[in-house]
Amino acid sequence: MSVGEVVLVGGGPGDPDLLTVGGLKALRAADVVLYDHLAPLACLAETRPDATLLDVGKIPRGHHTPQADINALLVEHARSGALVVRFKGGDPFVLGRGSEEWQACAEAGIPVRVIPGVSSAIAGPALAGIPLTHRGLTQNFSVVSGHVGPDHPASTVNWDALATSSGTIVILMGVTHLADICAGLVARGLAPDTPAAIVARATSPEQRVFRGTVATLPGIAASAHVEPPALTVIGAVVALDLLGPTAS
Ligand code: SAH
Repeated sequence: MSVGEVVLVGGGPGDPDLLTVGGLKALRAADVVLYDHLAPLACLAETRPDATLLDVGKIPRGHHTPQADINALLVEHARSGALVVRFKGGDPFVLGRGSEEWQACAEAGIPVRVIPGVSSAIAGPALAGIPLTHRGLTQNFSVVSGHVGPDHPASTVNWDALATSSGTIVILMGVTHLADICAGLVARGLAPDTPAAIVARATSPEQRVFRGTVATLPGIAASAHVEPPALTVIGAVVALDLLGPTAS
């Protein structure tokens, strides 16, 4: 049997409408789909009735399939001739491990390609009425991982530069360490009254947006019991509040 193919499909942040046309085509054609909880699960209804669907979900602190096992499954199924779709939330190459999956396939001689998706880092702020840049106000944005705080040895982010970058900061995977992150930015020179917002479950019916400043947001998020998936936006653009103060 000839070797199959692996397609890394970025599913967008959860709303099926934000899956790309190319992503939908790949999903409809797939023999095997490996998905996790951040992918737009409603789109799985588009798969063929005979397709094999495998949940390799990585719920924080819950059930998860180790990355090495996911890589091995991709290779194994493609090697037996299948068209394998790795269906992920957002974009596969933004703070996910899509590039490692690509490398695992390439090392095994399996053809692999990526279909980019709409990152939650882009869609989440937009759906909360927050543009990431705005002419005359902010000309740059950074997307950073908040899975560890600024003072943690495992963080490779230059938090000093970030705090003084004058741009918008988008933090993914930063709910647990939100207080450390915000305090760390202020300690490094970010004005404490910088507008900040947290957007939880963007695109879903449970989407919630909480606004404050970089100094007040951790307390606001804690009182509201915000849980992942959520993202934080910090910067002058947050004050634009395009949807209006009553819309969130
Ligand atoms: N590759 C993905 C991000 C993976 S990291 C992307 O491009 O979107 C996972 C983090 O993404 C979560 O911890 C959360 O910060 C963010 N995230 C994913 N989906 C989200 C959603 N629907 N609403 C808010 N944040 C989301």
